[in-house]
Amino acid sequence: MLKIEDLRAEVDGKEILKGLSLEVKAGEVHAIMGPNGAGKSTLGYVLGGRDGYEVTGGTAHLDGVDLLAMEPYERAAAGLFLGFQYPVEIPGVSNVQFLREALNAQRRLRDEAPLSGGDFLKRARAEADALGLDAEMLKRPVNVGFSGGEKKRNEMVQMGIIDPRLAILDETDSGLDIDALRVVGEGINRIMRRPDKAVLLITHYQRLLDYVAPDVVHVLAGGRIVRTGGPELAHALEREGYQGVLA
Ligand code: ADP
Ligand code: MG
Ligand code: MG
Repeated sequence: MLKIEDLRAEVDGKEILKGLSLEVKAGEVHAIMGPNGAGKSTLGYVLGGRDGYEVTGGTAHLDGVDLLAMEPYERAAAGLFLGFQYPVEIPGVSNVQFLREALNAQRRLRDEAPLSGGDFLKRARAEADALGLDAEMLKRPVNVGFSGGEKKRNEMVQMGIIDPRLAILDETDSGLDIDALRVVGEGINRIMRRPDKAVLLITHYQRLLDYVAPDVVHVLAGGRIVRTGGPELAHALEREGYQGVLA
């Protein structure tokens, strides 16, 4: 479903991704772990098409389609969702406006009829409810004044409404208390654990993987995937650290 080959990318003229290869099949959850500054967030941004992240080599295909040739909104319409490590606040745009516009823009690009206001609200309330986010927060400007945990839950509400095929979730567990961690983990399973979907879960900790069991675990270090294994690799990292495992 996602095939990345020898991907190279620079930020501000500095090479961050240095020949990264990765393949994710439909139905799989892959965890990406790695030291600070390894390039994990950069990988998400490059796949999402963020400005300033320049691809200098390699390829990335989603369902055989060249992701890197598409505009960010086209990548989203093709089924890609990026959950941010640091969700952005958007003053003046309510959550409901933002999500309805995002969803319907994607539906138009896919030649699907837009959702009516009523149908959209029903779906948005159901998602907020499932993720333990007060439905009143849907009316507030996107993430403005939200706590760290509320922002992360809101990312998952967005994911539930958008219903993507491939989700890249960047440290979605950071800033969550234990109860929120469980709710978010269950949300990821409910929304994304399906035979036609896949998840790239960027995380530093085993605790999220206790809820969202990965099929494959990778270590990203120095801009490349340097180790790939099963769930036991995450446990080994927790015990021995990167230095221990990579030595
Ligand atoms: P990770 O998410 O694995 O902690 P990042 O992808 O955020 O790592 O960063 C990888 C490297 O790229 C770091 O050395 C970081 O300082 C650098 N980097 C990331 N974004 C920028 C930027 N906008 N400008 C300059 N350097 C950046
Ligand atoms: Mg980091
Ligand atoms: Mg990061």
